[in-house]
Amino acid sequence: MATINSVTGPMDTANLGFTLMHEHVTVSAPGIPQTYPQLLGDNFMDRIITGLTKAKKGGIDTIVDMTPLDLGRDVTLLAEAARKVGINIIACTGMYFEPTFLLTGISADKLADLFIDEIREGIGGTKIKAAILKGRNDIAGVTPGEEVILRALARAHLQTDVPIALHQYSPGRVGMRQIAIMKEEGVSLRRVKLDHCNDTTDVEYITWILEQGCFVGMDRYPGHGVSALARTKTLKALIDAGFEDRILPSHDHFIAYPLGGRLPSVEDREKQNPHGYLYVKDVVFPQLLDMGVSQPALDKLCVDNPRRFFEGA
Ligand SMILES: [Zn+2]
Repeated sequence: MATINSVTGPMDTANLGFTLMHEHVTVSAPGIPQTYPQLLGDNFMDRIITGLTKAKKGGIDTIVDMTPLDLGRDVTLLAEAARKVGINIIACTGMYFEPTFLLTGISADKLADLFIDEIREGIGGTKIKAAILKGRNDIAGVTPGEEVILRALARAHLQTDVPIALHQYSPGRVGMRQIAIMKEEGVSLRRVKLDHCNDTTDVEYITWILEQGCFVGMDRYPGHGVSALARTKTLKALIDAGFEDRILPSHDHFIAYPLGGRLPSVEDREKQNPHGYLYVKDVVFPQLLDMGVSQPALDKLCVDNPRRFFEGA
């Protein structure tokens, strides 16, 4: 038995149930939900409750919200939504963008202290605690400032035992550099998840990541660039290769975001993915069964594997 902090308080990892490891409820920018909520639309809380209720009724027990401070995290909103819907939500700490304040030469240790505080004490004056560490390295690889963040995440992990999830640009094999830094910091790679591995069909690269000991997030569905079916075929290839214990499917879905910008309207997004947080369960899993994957193997992906990733077992 192990305990994990959800946004509504500590819970037993045995109760995580069907868990989506990389989702968002809202995505925007720092302070938006608290200060300019009108950007998220008049009825954004209703849309959030509707979307999460649909997920809960469809069999999703837990959503890991990978929205850190700089993507507009609002843990009070998450807690309110979790309570109303009766779904578990796990919050993250860490960073997405390289903040300009790093230019002042702030150290990895100082940054780690901030993350540790959000894990041990709570986020932004609340008692709501983070239970996963997030970093991000995209098409530019690991920039010098981002390296400071990665080292801070590693050090926060070593002090708290909270696992690490890293957004990475898989077509550029950016995970290789992330793994090198985690190793230098002395992190066990079994506590590291490399996200967005299904933005490529490069099975050789994903296999290399798994061979290092990491978990892999096959966590963009239906996704862009690579078709949803190609993503599922890649997932099947990894199961066939014997890695079913360390694959974590999810969507990178979000409900509320600044409207009227580059992102599609709520209606267009609904058309693109009417399943929302249920695409994996309702579309991908039946396809995998048709392809010959066993039900026990599928049960591992979103139930056993998330629990084991958090427990570090
Ligand atoms: Zn995401």
